[in-house]
Amino acid sequence: MSTPNRTVDVVVVGGGPAGATAAHELALAGRDVVLLDRAGRIKPCGGAVPPQLLIDFKVPESLLVNQVDTARIISPTGALVDIPVGDGFVGMVDREHFDEWLRVRAANAGATRVVGAYESMERDQNGVITVHYRRGGGRTARIEQVRTRMVVGADGALSKVARQELPAEAAKARYVFAYHEVIESPQIEDEAFGAARCDVYYEGGLSPDFYAWVFPHGDTTSVGTGSANKGFGLRGAVRDLRARTGMDRVETIRQEGAPIPLKPLPRWDNGKDVVLAGDAAGVVAPSSGEGIFYAMTGGREAARAVDLALATGDARELRKARRRFLGSHGSVFWMLGMMQRFWYSSDNRRERFVAICRDRDVQELTFEGYMRKELVKARPMAHAKIFWKNIGHLTGMART
Ligand SMILES: Cc1cc2nc3c(=O)[nH]c(=O)nc-3n(C[C@H](O)[C@H](O)[C@H](O)COP(=O)(O)OP(=O)(O)OC[C@H]3O[C@@H](n4cnc5c(N)ncnc54)[C@H](O)[C@@H]3O)c2cc1C
Repeated sequence: MSTPNRTVDVVVVGGGPAGATAAHELALAGRDVVLLDRAGRIKPCGGAVPPQLLIDFKVPESLLVNQVDTARIISPTGALVDIPVGDGFVGMVDREHFDEWLRVRAANAGATRVVGAYESMERDQNGVITVHYRRGGGRTARIEQVRTRMVVGADGALSKVARQELPAEAAKARYVFAYHEVIESPQIEDEAFGAARCDVYYEGGLSPDFYAWVFPHGDTTSVGTGSANKGFGLRGAVRDLRARTGMDRVETIRQEGAPIPLKPLPRWDNGKDVVLAGDAAGVVAPSSGEGIFYAMTGGREAARAVDLALATGDARELRKARRRFLGSHGSVFWMLGMMQRFWYSSDNRRERFVAICRDRDVQELTFEGYMRKELVKARPMAHAKIFWKNIGHLTGMART
């Protein structure tokens, strides 16, 4: 699609959950939008999503390849706590199909899909942007152009748009490096594997500052780990976990890794015509590494901000994407960040963290919060109890 004479309203760079959602919402708002995505790689991802995602973004349950009803957390000494999900579930999506479904939905709503790799952008004297991209995505592919008034940068954790348009902010990004192996699901259910159970390992040997996981997706299972410590051997940790759980005897389908951003960037817009969304904006929940729901929420906020900026001609609208997002989720991110820094820092603390999770109130509020994406207001005493329990541990007063 070389369109030297046509100027579209928005080019969305990146067709993951953030970009596909932004393009869908902009198309629904009647905007002329191009969704530019470099195809060809399935996003490495555990694929766990909360039920609220299906509700908020009208995603059909048929896209879930599994529904998990229990989360098992495992301490460094092997103590287990099974946390039932109650009347909800943790959904599992396969990103190959999930992301494509989102992109097709955006196209059906009117977005123009272009397969290509974003390279750069420049502006003419009227402020119209020319986006340069490699058609088809290959490194040597022909460069083509599209003219646009605004750009949404949703091109993932190592966003080129962010590095070019908000270089000072992008330089501040910090990451957890995550690696997983997609394996054939074990046929036998035992202590080490449950087809409807997520296993989360808190153990320094498997991750010195994050956690390792086993997420069942029906026919396949994701076994992975993450760490911000570049020297830590992620592959070795997954090899150990598979050997220990007998999952070294099943076939490996894919081995892949990618960075997960740790902290929302201090700014998401360039003050004129570009706004970031999803991993490009640094938006993944600390402690859990949950990013899909937040990427879609960020994509929606970016779309709303761009639509308003175009309608009013006031670029200050772009700043509201970050403000609105953090207004809804900032306090949860702050709390999860504090918990990650404290609880994931030594095996002694991990052991105590798993012990705290035996508390029924902790379990219920954790899952309510995960599933509905809002703090549960109905049970102030339970909140107070957990708050003081956390504070007790954070300050070293409690020893449970
Ligand atoms: C190993 C691992 C496990 C994870 N597990 C979970 C989990 O279980 N649950 C969860 O919620 N989150 C999980 N996450 C986080 C989650 O995957 C991300 O937060 C989420 O994918 C972010 O969505 P996004 O749209 O912002 O970016 P991405 O999904 O990374 O999408 C970016 C898109 O941009 C495209 N792109 C990149 N560069 C260019 C370019 N130059 N030109 C054009 N297109 C480009 C890519 O092809 C891609 O389609 C995990 C992450 C990792 C690495």
